[in-house]
Amino acid sequence: MDRISRRAQVLNNHLTQSPPPTVSSLQRSPCLAFSPPELTEKAHFDTAELRKLTDGHNIQDRDWLYGLMVQSKLFNPRVLGGRVFISPNYNQSMEQQREMTMRRILFLLERGVFEGWLTGKGIEAEMRKFAFLEVVGMFDHSLAIKIGVHFFLWGGAIQFFGTKRHHDKWLRDTESYAVKGCFAMTELGHGSNVRGIETITTYDSNTGEFIINTPCESAQKYWIGGAANHATHTVAFSQLNIDGTNQGVHAFIVQIRDKDGSICPSIRIADCGHKTGLNGVDNGRIWFDNVRIPRENLLNSVADVSPDGHYLSSIKDPDQRFAAFLAPLTSGRVTIAVSSVYSSKIGMAIAIRYALSRRAFSVAPNEPEVLLLDYPSHQRRLLPLLAKTYAMSFSANYLKTLYMNRTPELIKTIHVVSSAFKAALTWHNMRTLQECREACGGQGLKTENHVGHFKSEFDVQLTFEGDNNVLMQQISKALFAEYVNAKKRNKPFKGLGLEHMNGPSPVIPSQLSSHTLRNKQFQMDAFCLRERDLLAQFAEEVLKLQSQGQSKENAFMLSYQIAEDLGRAFSDRAILKNFIQVEESATDEPLKGILALLRSMYALVIMEEDPAFLRYGYLSTTNATSLRKEILVLCKEMRPHALALVDSFGIPAALLSPIAFNWVDSNAWSPVQH
Ligand SMILES: Cc1cc2nc3c(=O)[nH]c(=O)nc-3n(C[C@H](O)[C@H](O)[C@H](O)COP(=O)(O)OP(=O)(O)OC[C@H]3O[C@@H](n4cnc5c(N)ncnc54)[C@H](O)[C@@H]3O)c2cc1C
Repeated sequence: MDRISRRAQVLNNHLTQSPPPTVSSLQRSPCLAFSPPELTEKAHFDTAELRKLTDGHNIQDRDWLYGLMVQSKLFNPRVLGGRVFISPNYNQSMEQQREMTMRRILFLLERGVFEGWLTGKGIEAEMRKFAFLEVVGMFDHSLAIKIGVHFFLWGGAIQFFGTKRHHDKWLRDTESYAVKGCFAMTELGHGSNVRGIETITTYDSNTGEFIINTPCESAQKYWIGGAANHATHTVAFSQLNIDGTNQGVHAFIVQIRDKDGSICPSIRIADCGHKTGLNGVDNGRIWFDNVRIPRENLLNSVADVSPDGHYLSSIKDPDQRFAAFLAPLTSGRVTIAVSSVYSSKIGMAIAIRYALSRRAFSVAPNEPEVLLLDYPSHQRRLLPLLAKTYAMSFSANYLKTLYMNRTPELIKTIHVVSSAFKAALTWHNMRTLQECREACGGQGLKTENHVGHFKSEFDVQLTFEGDNNVLMQQISKALFAEYVNAKKRNKPFKGLGLEHMNGPSPVIPSQLSSHTLRNKQFQMDAFCLRERDLLAQFAEEVLKLQSQGQSKENAFMLSYQIAEDLGRAFSDRAILKNFIQVEESATDEPLKGILALLRSMYALVIMEEDPAFLRYGYLSTTNATSLRKEILVLCKEMRPHALALVDSFGIPAALLSPIAFNWVDSNAWSPVQH
């Protein structure tokens, strides 16, 4: 019986529920055996060196923490196909998942993982903190978020919005989890629009206390991570009303639970309930019923209220005050952007390893079935995403470095770049996970295989700490301001990477050869051309609408299509620039070669995918066709490096999944019996 008729027979049996075929008819076909891709795939460059470039820092610390998690029963180790895998048990109830998250945090605390996270000084301490957060996020997004809320949001608010009196009182206790913090900014009625929140705070000079109140249901605090079960304190964001004047949004420390975990008087807390992902985080809702707190609980780095009730701030303009106030929150966007890349890396490593051991269909009778990754279509689906993941990874490292070296002059740049990368990297992650899920077929849907499940675990990254669409608008607005400023003052562009606009406009050759397409100068020229033209178009449209009587905000709203194109152009150009810098820093020739290949793949795929290149004529249709063909050639060239490229991520096997290894053994009958 040939393969097709045998398959038809199996399907027919299945549909008609006939008894299974006799053993003798099956014996003709040899059973599939797993063959490790390492047997046939060899690395042609130094994978350890590439890992150094992608992880960027604290490699030993990362490996130590991987080891700690793998060896602890708390991280739910399971042996499948002769290997240990660790992953939370997502079959547990929401309450059980939350308790496990807290228990894991206490375990990490005991092992010294959080030492210096708030009290440590210098870039080294910060880098170690970032590395550890990235590692725990690869095990479980809930664990990283619960830790992130406590250290980066609550702790970050104390550090950056507070002053010495707050630092002395709260930072050490936060680092030791003597207090458990949460961050209450979002309300039912206002999320992206923070300035619109309705919680209101007044001051009582007779007692020296602030009074925080939730005046209506839409003002209830919503989605507050940690509030439903564990947090003892929160930073509450509220309008501050002094003598009938609204001074805008300010932040206050409020105790919400006592030492026994009972909810404090005048506080009401409810659960946000089950979510599509991230159920290990206890998101809650909070109502403040005229809660009284000491005057000192105002986080007063930007503004204060004197004991006799006078509002004091060195920044008079409320817009500037608000901006200065929120600027330190960038760290949340940085950690989200970076964590999304690690999730993409896991998805890619699993899907590519599976595609290097899974076969489907033979091209000719009696020939072995074809390895998934030997199908050009499978290469086309996965390898461009792999190149993009590298590009995103280098940019995530750049973002961290930019953030570490922050100065007051860099605040605007950090805001714009972190917004751009947070949106680009998290969108990339969702797309990557979806493609990896499909590339793994039905196996991609098994929770233990991560790729499908991660979509719902990481989806929220597109929304919190700045909704991606709203962030893209903010980027365009910032670029518009730069543009108008430079033109008005007749000054060259400086900062945000816009210096390329000072030179003449690049010219794209009418015929694009393979050589030109792979040339980094050409790639950069094409990206710069798109960005400068879109920025000029956007500015022209906004200014025209304003001259026709529209307000600036309306003009921005009406020009949203170009704004979106521009936001993307800015992000892509910045990502390419970082890639080129990493490539130029590499000294090893084979590594340089592979980086050049990845960079070309990244650049050409972006040009192919963004309709703006064709829409605005930066590429002719002929050139677009040449480019499309070149991508297939690049796929072919990347194919032999696929395993080495995912190995270079340095992710321990325990954090991948059974289908990345011996998926026949891991699905064998014997473990079922036991
Ligand atoms: C799991 C989870 C955990 C969270 N944890 C916390 C936490 O610990 N603390 C906290 O304070 N918050 C938290 N949040 C809240 C989160 O930050 C908000 O959900 C986010 O800011 C978006 O607000 P929103 O949900 O009200 O959406 P909205 O702001 O209502 O946005 C809805 C849609 O409208 C679009 N939109 C909004 N404004 C515009 C505009 N100007 N132009 C065009 N389109 C627009 C957006 O793009 C979006 O698609 C959490 C949220 C979730 C889901």
